[in-house]
Amino acid sequence: SLNVGVLSIQGDVEENLLSTKTALDELGLDGKVYDVKTPEEISQLDGLIIPGGESTTIGQLSFVNGSLKVIKEKIENGMPVLGICAGMIMLSNSASDRIMGKTDQPLLNILDIKLERNSFGRQKESFEADISLDSINIPKFNGVFIRAPSVSDVGSGVDVLSKFNERIVAIKKDNVIGTAFHPELTPDTSLHKYFINLVKSFKN
Ligand code: GLN
Repeated sequence: SLNVGVLSIQGDVEENLLSTKTALDELGLDGKVYDVKTPEEISQLDGLIIPGGESTTIGQLSFVNGSLKVIKEKIENGMPVLGICAGMIMLSNSASDRIMGKTDQPLLNILDIKLERNSFGRQKESFEADISLDSINIPKFNGVFIRAPSVSDVGSGVDVLSKFNERIVAIKKDNVIGTAFHPELTPDTSLHKYFINLVKSFKN
């Protein structure tokens, strides 16, 4: 049985629990979904979703309770992770804000990417757009962008999965996926299913 966790420090936790459950059912896989917070809970997982929210808050609180370190070790040992929006920011090794510039915030330092927070503007400039992730066989996906980051540069080995308006909005490197948009806010579970299949192959 697969143990999939959603980091429940702050942000879009409930929606991701639901999308993950639905995706597991649709795939007919035996799995459980947990909201996780502590290093002990995280150490039991086969896969982790870091949800969207506020990356500074998620970073600081997970640093203080020791889970940031455990998450990093698990990912480095091959555990699949899906970082959504703030979650993708957490995966990076460098974040700057469109207005505030370089921000000093705890990050996982997993992916060599340059990333701009709030790249598409403020909350009221949130939008939805059709995007495609052809290389992972998702030709059409409804991208929900909420104070979303974009990736301005990727280091070697990081694949670009999707671009919108010339900006990189989804990336993958081995067991690590990041999206600037929120797949848990659409009924289409194809990205969650793709992630769960990664978790399954890691477990096997
Ligand atoms: N703007 C947020 C941040 O910089 C991310 C927004 C989101 O996760 N929807 O952390």
